[in-house]
Amino acid sequence: MIQMKAVQMYEHGGPDVLKYEDIPEPQIRPDEVLLRVRACALNHLDLWMRGGLPGAKIPMPHILGSDIAGEVVRVGELCERIKPGQRVLLSPGTSCRQCEQCVSGVDNLCRRYTLFGAGRLGGNREYMPAPEYTVIPIPDHLSFETAAAAPLVFVTAWHMLLTRAGLQAGEDVLVLAASSGVGMAAVQIAKMFQCRVIATAGGEAKLRKARELGADHVIDHYQQDISAEVKRITDRRGVDVVFEHVGAATWPKSVESLASNGRLVTCGNTTGYDVKLDIRYLFSKHQALVGSFMGTMGELHRALKFVFQGKLKPVVDRAFPMPEIAAAHAYLENKEQFGKVIVVP
Ligand SMILES: [Zn+2]
Repeated sequence: MIQMKAVQMYEHGGPDVLKYEDIPEPQIRPDEVLLRVRACALNHLDLWMRGGLPGAKIPMPHILGSDIAGEVVRVGELCERIKPGQRVLLSPGTSCRQCEQCVSGVDNLCRRYTLFGAGRLGGNREYMPAPEYTVIPIPDHLSFETAAAAPLVFVTAWHMLLTRAGLQAGEDVLVLAASSGVGMAAVQIAKMFQCRVIATAGGEAKLRKARELGADHVIDHYQQDISAEVKRITDRRGVDVVFEHVGAATWPKSVESLASNGRLVTCGNTTGYDVKLDIRYLFSKHQALVGSFMGTMGELHRALKFVFQGKLKPVVDRAFPMPEIAAAHAYLENKEQFGKVIVVP
């Protein structure tokens, strides 16, 4: 039996539960390809999955990693589109492909929707099987590391801004934590749609990078009052769209930053989920609070067009060799990065 390297976890806990070890190379099914993984990006999901979520049990040992790029080594007999040797990335999300939601194109609402590294084994290994429908060829000029940095955050930010918040050209957008993966993606998407972007970040270096990404105004969320700054920049009007994913730490300021008819869209709660809401402003100012989870396969293909053309640029902060994955997790956990953290098998 051929052996390969993988990072497995047998229990939830700190970065030290991640074990770099030999396991047998996986078999593929007829509708799957075998991928030689060349780069895998970290997401907050990796940290949640590693630490364990109340009520969510996963089979052990587990392999993390949702954002995956590599080369196709073999294809199963039912594969028609993808050929061995192609450079590709994978859609992070998988679904049943048969239910009403899936065939309506909203596969992210499928009851069997899950992600590599979450409900199924992920990309922190040298070789992995992937259903052919998840495989998306990438152009030669795109590095595996940059390709791996793209899918999860760009599909999430695209779905949030355009589909859920109904972003229109010319609107004002507040992007929380531009240094995060989704924040980095949101700043660029909003700018591509000719919006004025106010971005928050922590510290001078990150504020400068947010500006370089295209943010028109920046706010230091450790030093400044977010909503007061938003009101000052917008001449007391507020913004049309607030792009939230931070949760408890920023929620009150995010809500205060909304203009009349404003939409707050959220995809996460990295600082906590329990928030307060004064509903008087919600109805009297005609505002909307919108949840968002991942995005559809169609939106992923749409967003990636712009990544492949170089109009949207996945920002890679740093790549770690896969044996040092525990250090990569700690690095992301300590919020040291701007953009994506990658592990390379
Ligand atoms: Zn389905």
